[in-house]
Amino acid sequence: MTNESFAALLAAQGLTVDDRQLEQFDRYFHLLVEWNERMNLTGITERDAVYEKHFYDSATLSVVTDMADVARIADIGSGAGFPSLPLKICFPHLKVTIVDSLNKRIQFLQHVASELGLEDVECVHGRAEDVARQKEHRDQYDLVTARAVARLAALNELCLPFARSGGVFAAMKGTDPREEVDEAQRSLRELKGKVRQIIPMKLPLEQSERHVILIDKLATPRTYPRKAGTPVKTPLL
Ligand code: SAM
Repeated sequence: MTNESFAALLAAQGLTVDDRQLEQFDRYFHLLVEWNERMNLTGITERDAVYEKHFYDSATLSVVTDMADVARIADIGSGAGFPSLPLKICFPHLKVTIVDSLNKRIQFLQHVASELGLEDVECVHGRAEDVARQKEHRDQYDLVTARAVARLAALNELCLPFARSGGVFAAMKGTDPREEVDEAQRSLRELKGKVRQIIPMKLPLEQSERHVILIDKLATPRTYPRKAGTPVKTPLL
């Protein structure tokens, strides 16, 4: 994929990127492939696929959540930086907090942020369940994101505590997540989250399905999240 064709795909979704931003994506791609030889960051390394399935997929979350309304974003289980780093490249005003329990990935993300000259990117090594108990992260974020981390019933407990009251949690999913949303009803009640919308999307070239679940956060009871490991092991079903 050339820079021009990537820019055109984004432009079709109303997203404009300049040469510097395209260079940042190119550098990010090379760092991802280089570090992936030493550690497990992604199964996708071919350029076209990285640009479409990681960069485009992440950046176009902005089609369903207006980034002009977002100042602080927390990305839970960001792995190699998705969706938060492509969003940060496209929307430099964002203050990004990344939480991941694997320190090697955190080191990679710190390196990428510094190499790309991205400011206001904080990379936190820890389990979401523990980090969400820290005052500086709890109830703080306008937008919380998670892509490919856990099923929604567990994810609500990992992610909603980070959102401020009135903030939004965007869970990024592949195929139709309605069954997962049904299964997550108890966790939504307990964590006081309300599904606003499930938005279907499609990757532009390979045409696979994507869905974004937008959940409004009301408040998080003190008892959540439970001890690290519990939300996934014993989800609120
Ligand atoms: N979001 C990325 C993406 O879409 O490519 C990465 C997905 S990867 C499958 C899941 C990531 O979540 C891993 O990097 C893992 O270390 C992290 N993770 C899983 N459970 C977590 C938890 N409880 N707290 C923080 N990070 C977690």
